[in-house]
Amino acid sequence: MPIGPETVVNFHYTLSDESGKELETSRGGDPATYLHGANNIIPGLESEMAGKDAGDSFTATVSPEQGYGLRDPDRVQRVPIKHLAFKGKLRPGAVVQLSTSEGMRAVTVVKAGRHTADIDTNHPLAGQTLVFDIEILETRNASAEELSHGHVHGPGGHHH
Ligand code: ZN
Repeated sequence: MPIGPETVVNFHYTLSDESGKELETSRGGDPATYLHGANNIIPGLESEMAGKDAGDSFTATVSPEQGYGLRDPDRVQRVPIKHLAFKGKLRPGAVVQLSTSEGMRAVTVVKAGRHTADIDTNHPLAGQTLVFDIEILETRNASAEELSHGHVHGPGGHHH
């Protein structure tokens, strides 16, 4: 069935930046899944998914505005290193976890000192044009429970 509101979609994707550098892929692992029309994925990808069906493969190019937003240069701040969770060495460009009052969030290291680090709290993919190479594996109708929760249950989805 073609993808529309209330469709659960299983798909493989490879995400690259504009220069063709691969950033992430689901291939070689479990496919990704989402509930269409429930803001589970970025708007630019969701609109490209609409009307596609199982077996379709396509490339979707998503602008920053339709992806993770524009990069805000004011969102660089200096924090004590003890507020960061990371493995190994703190290096510029590394994505680490910052402990905040609302929980942990991914931030990018700009500069690391002995006791403090300058971190960029923009989403790591903010400001980037994203190129998705998509293969739709399966589509199905969402269950009433999935619709009321606004997300997919079962493999690749929420377990609760
Ligand atoms: Zn649920």
